[in-house]
Amino acid sequence: MKNIIEKIKKTRLATGEELLMLLKNTDGEIDEYLFSCAREVCRENYNGKVYLRGLIEFTNYCKNDCLYCGIRRSNKNAKRYRLGHEEILECCKNGYSLGFRTFVLQGGEDGFYSDDMICEIVSSIKKEYPDCAVTLSIGEKPRESYERYFNSGADRYLLRHETANKEHYSKLHPPEMSFDNRMRCLKDLKEIGFQVGAGLMVGSPFQTAENLVEDLLFLADFQPDMIGIGPFIPHGETPFAGFESGKVRDTLAMVALSRLLVPKALIPATTALGTIHPKGREMGLNAGANVVMPNLSPLGVRKLYDLYENKICTGEEAAECLACIKGRIASAGFEADMSRGDRCGF
Ligand code: SAH
Repeated sequence: MKNIIEKIKKTRLATGEELLMLLKNTDGEIDEYLFSCAREVCRENYNGKVYLRGLIEFTNYCKNDCLYCGIRRSNKNAKRYRLGHEEILECCKNGYSLGFRTFVLQGGEDGFYSDDMICEIVSSIKKEYPDCAVTLSIGEKPRESYERYFNSGADRYLLRHETANKEHYSKLHPPEMSFDNRMRCLKDLKEIGFQVGAGLMVGSPFQTAENLVEDLLFLADFQPDMIGIGPFIPHGETPFAGFESGKVRDTLAMVALSRLLVPKALIPATTALGTIHPKGREMGLNAGANVVMPNLSPLGVRKLYDLYENKICTGEEAAECLACIKGRIASAGFEADMSRGDRCGF
């Protein structure tokens, strides 16, 4: 199996059969080899640097009803919040003084924020902090909206595809949401000129190993600039409350294979991975990830952005989060980098 890993590393190409075999592998030594190859490819492109992004979770209102997500509209027990323009800028101010040069604005699909408001928020941030990148992660929108966000200065957009299999997609989402529209969004975002992030949850309900292969083949074909991969974690107030979390090992294998297939991608060691294992994020870095996204949201609302159970880092000030993350990055043998950290070659 090592020769297959070698081949993928060299050619960046893999067949579905090869990927399936590697995903199903149970030999720890082969896994270690896969991770070391992913690390090497990452080092060739990013020289051991791990980029830090300041995450601002600015609203947990959502019009969607994704079956896995704790802030779905049907969760009547969720306490809802949204941050105003000034509060978001306050988070950026705090983040900037801590050294962050990327701000990621993430939220539910909240109709309260018109395109005008989003554009005003983005352009205020860019005006105040012209040396910073702004990333949006606010879901599916018409192409015209994406164009307006881009023209107002947004640099990047995160929109996980969630699964590359249409049938699987329909088991994770309500009937009014569509796989085709999600894919349309990703294509539009790329054409408009954003650095685009796709990605998925590992171990989501009804997912098969074959589905994960389809995800990898999709990523290899789409070549996103960023790839978010975390384990599915159940949330008690959703229809998936009784399902198990995704596995650490499977998540790491997906991170490593994504690194081999999309060598220049920015890949976060996700908060979800850190939630299912105390050393999850360090393990992610060791499997080829090169981004960490500490939380800059105001302490008072942290716990409310409640996508899944037991989410970590909801009790510390941004400065504490940053210090902790920096320590973890160093202990894993990497160098924390607070610069914009665009995708190399972009
Ligand atoms: N509304 C935005 C942001 C979504 S939240 C959008 O639609 O893109 C960011 C990501 O959290 C989602 O893309 C999803 O993959 C992940 N997520 C949601 N619920 C989760 C859960 N229960 N376990 C793990 N990850 C989850």
